[in-house]
Amino acid sequence: MTAENTTPLGEQLSEKELCPDDLLAGQEAAFARDIERIQKRVAEFVEVTCPACGSRVYQAAFEKFGFSFRACSDCATLYMSPRPSPAVMADYYSNSENYAYWAQYIFPASEASRREKIHKPWLERVLGFCDRYSIQRGTLLEIGPGFGTFAAVATESKTFSRVVAVEANPDMAAACRTRGVEVIEKRVEDINERKDLETVDVIVSFEVIEHLFEPQKFIAQCANLLPSGGLIVLSCPNGLGFDIAMLGAKALAVDAEHVNLFNPQSLSQLLEKSGFEVLEATTPGRLDAEFVREAALKGDIDLSGDPFLQRVLIEDWDSLGWPFQQFLATHNLSSHLWIAARRR
Ligand SMILES: [Zn+2]
Repeated sequence: MTAENTTPLGEQLSEKELCPDDLLAGQEAAFARDIERIQKRVAEFVEVTCPACGSRVYQAAFEKFGFSFRACSDCATLYMSPRPSPAVMADYYSNSENYAYWAQYIFPASEASRREKIHKPWLERVLGFCDRYSIQRGTLLEIGPGFGTFAAVATESKTFSRVVAVEANPDMAAACRTRGVEVIEKRVEDINERKDLETVDVIVSFEVIEHLFEPQKFIAQCANLLPSGGLIVLSCPNGLGFDIAMLGAKALAVDAEHVNLFNPQSLSQLLEKSGFEVLEATTPGRLDAEFVREAALKGDIDLSGDPFLQRVLIEDWDSLGWPFQQFLATHNLSSHLWIAARRR
């Protein structure tokens, strides 16, 4: 595994470009109702071992929205346990008011910006992996495409012979088709490689694995779909990144849906165990410093005892903020993790 930063970070990014402030209040209210609903089923929550290494040894990490998070003593993965059972999770996602609000208001207001600022750079990054490791640009499979913005960008770019999105949710699948994306409307575990697909060269799955009850099963299913030499690219939060380290439970990445917060080492370990050779594990995040700055400005955290961070994040933000974020990103210290691995 190499941790060297060969991954372009892209231009500076601010959360405000992605999610207008006035829409956030409505989303927060919808989210609060979701949390109330899921908490009513707490009797169905299930205790789990570390989702990366299986260890039963842990320290209590933090509580948020009434959920308990643990830190694995062996691999430092942060994980929710007890966590909602797969049935409770499925019910949560299909009835989520937060998702409905996002789909109706926030997503349409921000898709164009996300496309340029996020999804196009993501495609560049995936193509970079293909070039560096001589991966064929035949079939690209995206698992969990959401509304299909990335899959649409990839389809339109014609950089792969075929782009297929795997999406079981009928509304999401329809959204993908609207954007001209070919969809297999199934859960990934129900895909029949021979019937549904010929050879898959690349699997990508962005911001999915942190939501899954059994991430190890998901990676095993991906391994089944790829031939030897096939590439998998995953992105997710890094539980050891700057904003989570600084903000703990107050970090945005710590929430009711992110039940697994891996780190570059622990996710690498899980992939290696599942038949992959890890090629690159990097943290090309662009928002940590801004999140911590915002928390300090709102009074959620107190930086007065830390003159160094006070200077970087507040006083000299305009000149030091972005270089500091680049430092975090290039040294695997950002809270946004990307990992590329090759099927053995
Ligand atoms: Zn562990």
